[in-house]
Amino acid sequence: MLRINDILDRVQPYLSPTELEMIEKAYIFSASVHQGQIRLSGEPYLTHPMEVCGILADMKLDAATLVTGLLHDTVEDTLATQEQIEEAFGKEVAFLVDGLTKISKITLGNQEERQAENFRKMILAMSSDIRILLVRLADRIHNMRTLEFQTPDRQLYISKETLELYAPLANRLGINWMKMELEDLSFRYLDFEAYNELAKRVVKKQKKREEYAEEVRGIIRQEMERFGIRGEVEGRAKHFYSIYMKMKEQHIDFDEVYDLTAFRIILDSDKDKDCYEALSMVHALWTPVPGRFKDYIAMPKANHYQSLHTTVIGPYGERVEIQIRTRPMHNWAEEGIAAHWRYKEGGSFSPDDNQIKKLRDLLDAQQEIKNPREFMSNLKVALFPEEVYVFTPNGDVRSFPKGATPIDFAYSIHTDIGNQCIGAKANRSIVPLKYQLRNGDRVEIITQAGHHPSKDWLKYVVTTRAMAKIRNWVKTEERKKSVALGRDLLEKEFKKHHLKFGQISKSSEMQVLFKELHTESLDDLLAFVGYGRVSPKHVVHHFLPEEEVKKEEPVDKTRKKGPETEPIGVSLAGIDDIMVRFGKCCDPIPGDEIVGYISRGRGITVHTDNCIHVPDMDAERLVNVQWDVREKREYPVQMKIVCHDSKGILADISTAISSLDVNIYHAEINTAPDGQATCHFGVNVNNLKQFNKISAAIRKLRGVISVERIWRS
Ligand code: MN
Repeated sequence: MLRINDILDRVQPYLSPTELEMIEKAYIFSASVHQGQIRLSGEPYLTHPMEVCGILADMKLDAATLVTGLLHDTVEDTLATQEQIEEAFGKEVAFLVDGLTKISKITLGNQEERQAENFRKMILAMSSDIRILLVRLADRIHNMRTLEFQTPDRQLYISKETLELYAPLANRLGINWMKMELEDLSFRYLDFEAYNELAKRVVKKQKKREEYAEEVRGIIRQEMERFGIRGEVEGRAKHFYSIYMKMKEQHIDFDEVYDLTAFRIILDSDKDKDCYEALSMVHALWTPVPGRFKDYIAMPKANHYQSLHTTVIGPYGERVEIQIRTRPMHNWAEEGIAAHWRYKEGGSFSPDDNQIKKLRDLLDAQQEIKNPREFMSNLKVALFPEEVYVFTPNGDVRSFPKGATPIDFAYSIHTDIGNQCIGAKANRSIVPLKYQLRNGDRVEIITQAGHHPSKDWLKYVVTTRAMAKIRNWVKTEERKKSVALGRDLLEKEFKKHHLKFGQISKSSEMQVLFKELHTESLDDLLAFVGYGRVSPKHVVHHFLPEEEVKKEEPVDKTRKKGPETEPIGVSLAGIDDIMVRFGKCCDPIPGDEIVGYISRGRGITVHTDNCIHVPDMDAERLVNVQWDVREKREYPVQMKIVCHDSKGILADISTAISSLDVNIYHAEINTAPDGQATCHFGVNVNNLKQFNKISAAIRKLRGVISVERIWRS
């Protein structure tokens, strides 16, 4: 069992005494809270955080990371709290431990393979500090090393998750040894037979392979000396999983896998061109196999891996794979991102500029890095800053641009779910529709059949899909209403001339009109009229003899009576159907003389006949409308009362208003020095008659000078 002194010995060369003390303190804390807990292996639970810390120590990571390794399971699995950790070890460690507690909850479950990439991204996104992920990987390595104590079911489940989530993450961070170990361990549990068979055969050939490898290494070393190329040659057995994958992908048998050993030439130089020189040396020595050369120096892998790979026909006609790289390339290939968190000998960070650049690209960080030290200490790097990952109720992961809301989420599931969405839950609590989704949220949408989207939603969505769906719905809805309105307007206009629109709309004459308006269908024409693009008059003139058209008087906007057309009822029950709205400028109430105005795409706006805006309106778009009140409804109206500022008069006025069962929604009183008061009241009335009744009642009051209705403007 690993002891705390072993760990301290390992890190003592590069950590300060204060940091060593903190690690000891974390050890004592972890030991006390994990006290009494036992692992499945029968060992004390403490062995696990100790081993994890040991792995991190071997990677030469900083003190906060090592402390986090010791504490990583305390909040999740013991009575220790986040607050205790912060108090004892500070904000930085508390932040890292909290991150680990959170990502430990992301499990692959029984998800299909296609979901794995989303889960990987979610883990990356939630590892707002890369050290969280490094501890998580070390945690997984130790759990895999001790997987034999789990039940067969758990073994399969954890191995699958490791192979699909954690090995690729280690690869993405460029930590090759972790990737290989995680793959081999998972492979062993997922397909024990294949693993065992492979292991047996590799061992059987081992002695022969080793002799052969020694021979190849010797030849290369000799040749390097001859050409004055400085560096070392390695020959390592490939890891089982990569051999297995090769057999599977190329459909070959074990005996056909020749290159069980990967040879590496690691140059002392740090110049790319020296790699190509070494390559030509190798190709001069042995014949290259066509199509097997790969230049990862000119075109590095996504995780910044660089090397030249070639396969040649080596001694005894056997295929030999050779990789050529410089020392810095090699360090990156082996340790990847972890190399940047390590202390160099002498206790200081000294990553070179090139490595910093790689790291920055890798993390896709947008921020300006002023100096390496600052970068190292300021580790809150968002790996995918522009995306959030959330769960569906089934446990699927979906990604959205930052700022996305439950509405975006709803539309990503299905258009109907988006259209009928009335509310949402995140992690089981109700959230508003404009709530911004956060990483790891479990989102649920509440729908109601028959519910419709609203134009306002456009303010809260960020995905193009949701935007397009909402716009489309609004457009379709407006068109539907405009078609109905257009039909209504035309029927009235035709009736005025004793013509039947229904009949005429089917006549061939109609085609001529369609052509003129560049439309093809009657619905288009109706929508044009409903949108106010074509006036009903224009349409009807098409079907009238010329004399009659001339006879028609131009619209007189200053008229006191409405035009002599059959009025359209402003039916309240049917408000939605013909898109009627009331002018905010003049607050029409039933009983007022009114006029309708076709506003583009928004149906008819009703104004009072004497509204100050009417004279400026396009006469072609004015229509006659008439009240058709089937349902009692309240309309706002404003009144101005001038009275003497005598005691009790305001009470009298409000009593008069209230006694008629009318509600005052606004009141404002200004008293002038001469003792006169001007009161503005906003009241809700059913109609003009009721308003007049109130006015009359107020006028009768003692001290009241005048009562009048006013308009906002
Ligand atoms: Mn753990």
